[in-house]
Amino acid sequence: MNFKLSGELITSDEIQKRVAELGEEIGRDYCGKDLVVVGILKGAIIFMAYLVRHIPPTVNATLDFMAVSSYGDSTKTNGIVKIVKDLDGSVKDKNVLVVEDIVDTGLTLSYLLKLMQERQPESVRVCALLDKEERRKVPVDVTYRGFLIPDKFVVGYGLDYAGKWRNLPAVHYVEQQREQ
Ligand code: 5GP
Repeated sequence: MNFKLSGELITSDEIQKRVAELGEEIGRDYCGKDLVVVGILKGAIIFMAYLVRHIPPTVNATLDFMAVSSYGDSTKTNGIVKIVKDLDGSVKDKNVLVVEDIVDTGLTLSYLLKLMQERQPESVRVCALLDKEERRKVPVDVTYRGFLIPDKFVVGYGLDYAGKWRNLPAVHYVEQQREQ
């Protein structure tokens, strides 16, 4: 099966507006506190880059990254999550904000959150740009959510299909195309 880029689900303007709101909300919640913002590579990179610019300097924010194995070139989760790159710094006694592109079954995040808790942070919260809540297999508490979306495969704004389309400024649907 091949995938073809289709129409926009969320426009670039809608994303920018919502990301700014999320940054301000995070700014209010962590005002005067330290915060380690942990981006999950590669999908969250674009979202995180915009988000952190909307977190005001009243929050003492630092950035770190983790990379986990994802869907590979298919669009189905296999439930297997492997840490490909770990955090550079310790999160012990720190407030952690995990930034994800999308929460689907919740398997990736629930694994990551368990791992994070073992490192004894002061607190851990999740900020996700997109949430396909109806697909959830395990419960995940998403404190800061950009958009609730239907059960459709999407690309753009950091999200890929087989490594492609991460650079698109909007979130798009993709259409399945039969091989000729
Ligand atoms: P979960 O473990 O919640 O099922 O899946 C999370 C990961 O699956 C995301 O970080 C992302 O890499 C991938 N994923 C889930 N749904 C989509 C989608 O609609 N589009 C893309 N490009 N990736 C998705």
